[in-house]
Amino acid sequence: MLRLENVTAHYGTIQALKGVSINVSEGEIVTVIGANGAGKTTLLKTLCGLVSATSGKVYFYDKDITNLPTSDIVAAGIVMVPEGRRIFPRMTVLENLQLGGYLNRNKSETKANMERVFELFPILKDRLHQIAGTLSGGEQQMLAIGRALMSRPKLLLLDEPSMGLAPKIVLSIFDIIRQINREGTTILLVEQNAQMALSTAHKAYVLETGRVVMEDTAEKLLHNEQVRKAYLGEA
Ligand code: ATP
Repeated sequence: MLRLENVTAHYGTIQALKGVSINVSEGEIVTVIGANGAGKTTLLKTLCGLVSATSGKVYFYDKDITNLPTSDIVAAGIVMVPEGRRIFPRMTVLENLQLGGYLNRNKSETKANMERVFELFPILKDRLHQIAGTLSGGEQQMLAIGRALMSRPKLLLLDEPSMGLAPKIVLSIFDIIRQINREGTTILLVEQNAQMALSTAHKAYVLETGRVVMEDTAEKLLHNEQVRKAYLGEA
């Protein structure tokens, strides 16, 4: 479904991605784990057109989407939930969701999409007219995911959904990520929380300073000694 071939990306003279190749098959949850600064966010930004790939290719359903404008990439079915959530804090929950569905002019589809978001996140229905900036961190993460789902993406990109959230909330966010996937959305998940990411995903890549250094099933990497030492805090 998604294929990155030898993708490089730079910020001025800094090379943030040094030839990254990744495959995501339809129906999977794929995770990319790595430390601070490994290039995880850059990877997601590059594949949705927010950072230019300086070489390499990105294919989505075998169509070359390398460096297309972000609006074309969203229209093709790839939507990102950015790090730090980036909801519109002065708008209501409802307005945030409506903006997520703005590409779809069909009112009954928009309504159905919103109902689906409420099934996943009943709290958002209760808070519909609340100003989004006053939601708790966990609720804001739910809104950010709900907003992304309003456009019915084929591929959902999640940038550190666990960031800054209490462990209990992290567990419920990851439960919902699994549920979204079971209902048919393919997911590419970037995380520093390797334990959660590897327990949730089917396949995983380890990114270190802009390079993929390991790839395997998430299950195998979860039990890999090197991974346990470097990313799961084991001595
Ligand atoms: P984090 O979890 O901290 O966000 P990350 O793995 O997502 O880390 P990136 O944010 O992709 O890492 O950063 C990769 C490298 O690119 C880092 O060395 C970072 O300092 C650098 N970088 C990121 N954004 C910029 C920018 N706008 N300008 C210059 N350098 C940047």
